[in-house]
Amino acid sequence: MRNYLVTFFAVFILSVPWFALTYPDQMRDFLLVVSDTGDQFASVILSHNPKTVEQIQSKYIASNIGIPNKKVRILLVPGHEANYGGAEYGSIKERDLTLELAKDLERIMGANSHYQVMVTRDDKTWSPTFDSYFKNNWQDIVTWTTAHREEISHLVSIGYVKPVVPTIIHNKAPTGVAYRLFGFTKWANENDVDIIIHIHFNDNPGHGINTPGDYSGFSIYVPEKQYYNSTTTIAVANTIFSRLSKLNPVSDLPGESTGIVEEPDLIAIGAYNTSDAASMLIEYGYIYEQQFVNTSLRAVSINDLAFQTYLGLQDFFDKNNAVKSAVSFNTLLLPHEWRNLVSKNEGTSGEIYALQTALMLDGVYPPQNTKMNDCPRTGSFGPCTLKALEAFQKKYGIDGEKGIVGPDTRSLLNEKYGTNRLI
Ligand SMILES: [Zn+2]
Repeated sequence: MRNYLVTFFAVFILSVPWFALTYPDQMRDFLLVVSDTGDQFASVILSHNPKTVEQIQSKYIASNIGIPNKKVRILLVPGHEANYGGAEYGSIKERDLTLELAKDLERIMGANSHYQVMVTRDDKTWSPTFDSYFKNNWQDIVTWTTAHREEISHLVSIGYVKPVVPTIIHNKAPTGVAYRLFGFTKWANENDVDIIIHIHFNDNPGHGINTPGDYSGFSIYVPEKQYYNSTTTIAVANTIFSRLSKLNPVSDLPGESTGIVEEPDLIAIGAYNTSDAASMLIEYGYIYEQQFVNTSLRAVSINDLAFQTYLGLQDFFDKNNAVKSAVSFNTLLLPHEWRNLVSKNEGTSGEIYALQTALMLDGVYPPQNTKMNDCPRTGSFGPCTLKALEAFQKKYGIDGEKGIVGPDTRSLLNEKYGTNRLI
């Protein structure tokens, strides 16, 4: 969650606004000149070694042929801290959802020997690595952050950099939280991390504590185009976006509706041009969406988002990979074997969730003239499901069980999307 609200996220209180780097290549040269001539504009000489697309893709290939220490290194940052921060809705805490998704992603990616996956925390505290890093390097993190801020400030003063105003107002992070976010980036730079994924769930102001808000869907935040780590981040974000958007609505919050949002001021993704790794922040949906609120669907829906994220990474690293051909549905919800009659007024169930997913892959869900945001997959059988089911039945000439999953509809669903389907 990162808009306006209660708990906040990644904006650090700046002494100068964030400024875009208008001429990144020239600036790199400029920094070399500055260090040669001993100009003391910053107390630390900064090095920028942004990961290129070719670099990280070649790592994946290198790990393929058994070159040691060449795995693609991915840092997962479950949004917010173990006992602090993030959106809340009823009894649901964003910081728990983000951790659940991070663990799912760690498990799924961990099964692929090309990746080395690290997670920053569990539900109680920081991982031992970050616990000791924060304890032993706090002053270094502060100094390093200040140096980057001064670097930008200096470049503004000499006209190499021009300001970019963020499109969305962000919540402010308290100092400790902000420095820990900078600390993740600093550590990642020092430890050859290729990709950092910050995991969040969104919220928006103005709804009651138990009343859903107006917006839904996911969005991916990437560094503003002139950051050094922007190009690589956007390349990775594109393939993840492409997978997620097949089954999930893109956020309809004004400012997020492009799906991939360039941001100048999020610490997580490299404010002050701090990050060498491709760094993105994924808001996986709004915390009050039904598939997260409903306890019987939460685990499968979050696991599925992790799975789709993994497929997106595979698309980036290995376009012709074996995983892709083995996964025909882009989701872990299918194949599914339907066994019961399904109709409206049944409450929420995995059976209906799988039905909605199958209907979506079949092109009839959401129904004509509706958006995914108006008809999300919720696991409950409402007007959207009814219309889509009727369209499905019409498409395949099924008569006599209009609006319910009776024997004929069920056997067609199982034939197309079931575990014993004919491929
Ligand atoms: Zn958040």
